[in-house]
Amino acid sequence: MFDKILIANRGEIACRIIRTTRRMGIATVAVYSDADAHALHVEMADEAHHIGGSPVSDSYLVGNRIIQAALDSGAQAIHPGYGFLSENPEFVEAVEASGLIFIGPSSRAIRAMGLKDAAKRLMDRAGVPVVPGYHGEAQELVVLATKAREIGYPVLIKARAGGGGRGMRRVDDPDAFHEALAAAKREAKAAFGDERVLVEKYIEKPRHIEVQVFGDMHGNVVHLYERDCSAQRRHQKVIEEAPAPGMSDEMRAAMTEAAVTAARAIAYTGAGTIEFIVDASEGLRPDRFWFMEMNTRLQVEHPVTEMITGVDLVEWQFRIASGQPLPLRQEEIPLDGHAFEARLYAEDAAKGFLPAIGTLHHLEFPQGPGVRVETGVRPGDAISPFYDPMIAKLVCHGHDREQALSRLYKALTHTRIAGSVVNTAFLAALAGDSDFAAGEVDTGMIERKHAELTKMALPNFRDVALAAVGANRIAVTPSGQDPWDALGGYAHFHPIERSVQLLFGEEEVAARVSVNRNGSARVAVGPMTTTIAQDAGSGEAVRWPGHVTVFAGPSTHNFVVPDPFEQAEAHAAGGDALRAPMPGLVKIVRAAAGDTVIKGQSLLMLEAMKMEHTITAPHDGVIEEITEQGSQVTEGTVLVRFRE
Ligand code: ADP
Ligand code: ADP
Ligand code: MG
Repeated sequence: MFDKILIANRGEIACRIIRTTRRMGIATVAVYSDADAHALHVEMADEAHHIGGSPVSDSYLVGNRIIQAALDSGAQAIHPGYGFLSENPEFVEAVEASGLIFIGPSSRAIRAMGLKDAAKRLMDRAGVPVVPGYHGEAQELVVLATKAREIGYPVLIKARAGGGGRGMRRVDDPDAFHEALAAAKREAKAAFGDERVLVEKYIEKPRHIEVQVFGDMHGNVVHLYERDCSAQRRHQKVIEEAPAPGMSDEMRAAMTEAAVTAARAIAYTGAGTIEFIVDASEGLRPDRFWFMEMNTRLQVEHPVTEMITGVDLVEWQFRIASGQPLPLRQEEIPLDGHAFEARLYAEDAAKGFLPAIGTLHHLEFPQGPGVRVETGVRPGDAISPFYDPMIAKLVCHGHDREQALSRLYKALTHTRIAGSVVNTAFLAALAGDSDFAAGEVDTGMIERKHAELTKMALPNFRDVALAAVGANRIAVTPSGQDPWDALGGYAHFHPIERSVQLLFGEEEVAARVSVNRNGSARVAVGPMTTTIAQDAGSGEAVRWPGHVTVFAGPSTHNFVVPDPFEQAEAHAAGGDALRAPMPGLVKIVRAAAGDTVIKGQSLLMLEAMKMEHTITAPHDGVIEEITEQGSQVTEGTVLVRFRE
């Protein structure tokens, strides 16, 4: 077994790998970018090496710097996690050429499965059912259009180098094929640098069911049952579970056998996942599933498999990479109960799932039997625009599906995050959906129920009152002191009524708050009044700069508390400054100091969250100072200062 390994990743997966290494007595080396200098994975590792700037192309994707860090630190092996370099065969070869061990499959196996068309041809030859389609070399419109007609509409055009749900186009009608093909090729070229596509049958009422496999260097291959990842949004997994609901013994036998055959066909070693697409229009039938692709790495959703089998998949990865045989034979692998995983993201479900950023001023995860939380952040950490905005994975196990699902729902309602926009309410709506509860899920379900699942509950009067009390605490707190002490101090006097201004979205709320001798607060908004007990406010409402966040079941309500001091300060600090609304990269600067600009004129372009935001002049004026092109800015940085 290894004494020391390097983890070529960040976030929750790096932390999760470290937990297993600690148990096994293996020392760890973390790598980190500028933005991650104080990240949790850096703190948890035994040592850490800086590998470059914040963008992934300058750090987590720079293979030679990572290999050098491994050599410098005396690590014997590299665990790639998922994403980044985990499925890059050139990286595997470079790792091996430098005398280190790659904790994963061979570069040959990764190459065999790297391109979807070649992988499908290979699987077809190995006798694994493959989605009917054209996986050949020809790329001419006439050939592909003819193949599409033969396959029968609807068809799916897929980038052969695609991943992460991108580079796919469904076509329902021959007349739309030409245009869809051009668009798919453009998208594939831009995202993957490879415009080649394949065309396959679009499966109706599709379910995504995948099988976890493991191979060792002694020719053994086992499976660890299936996971159902049909709850998807834009081909991206949202909630995953194991085992698949409605799975019959016959169907499971057929699918797991096909998966093991697939792994054997490429002499696979380590952890891998065979993804299948299933036609569930008439239930699960053993002749209605087809190979879709193989992911030659540890999967994001691997914890659900760990929860039902009791196997630590990362431990198995270490054992296999160090040459040991598989720890269990097929018949020794248990299947116990049911597990769900929900991916908690910083994103705004109500605004088309716009990715969000921000500082996690408050971060509270649920605890309880069968609940496991995988995260790479702590309170006070930032979700930056540089990486995937996943905050955590909530994993829940139960003795059956119903118990596991009810634990997941409860866990979501006990997840309290303030400082960014989070998708907890959306996840809870899905976990609480009656079709989902019945196991009636296909990959189109979220889209069909989009309006229902993303409809955000409005705060009720009690929520508003909690926000007003929270905001009042800000107003009366002398700096540096505990707010409740301060309240105690003036509760000796006759209760003073204060007015509190709040903003909920565009809506202004004017409340009056008075604190009683016993610490409870009376809140009035217009003619309505209510009393909030002192201890009630502490867990349900949290304050952070400029805001109060109220947690109401699965809902998170963010109120803005306009701060007169802050506004005055901003004015004093240069009268008229335009600040960055979020951290990002100043991509293009279109004006210079001394320029006279008019209201609405585009001044610069800020790239954040993989999107471009144009910053325009808020009024006519003369620019005194403007930020430099190419600079990285944090939220609130002054981008432009106008002359008085
Ligand atoms: P899974 O089936 O495990 O969800 P995906 O292909 O969607 O697999 O990717 C897994 C994770 O890896 C995603 O959450 C994504 O953030 C990350 N990822 C995928 N591709 C890349 C990449 N090229 N660079 C960085 N991260 C990536
Ligand atoms: P990626 O590499 O982006 O993960 P996949 O080939 O695994 O690409 O497909 C991603 C998702 O797209 C699947 O989980 C499924 O929801 C959908 N999908 C893929 N192929 C088909 C198909 N032939 N018919 C219907 N849906 C499909
Ligand atoms: Mg996939």
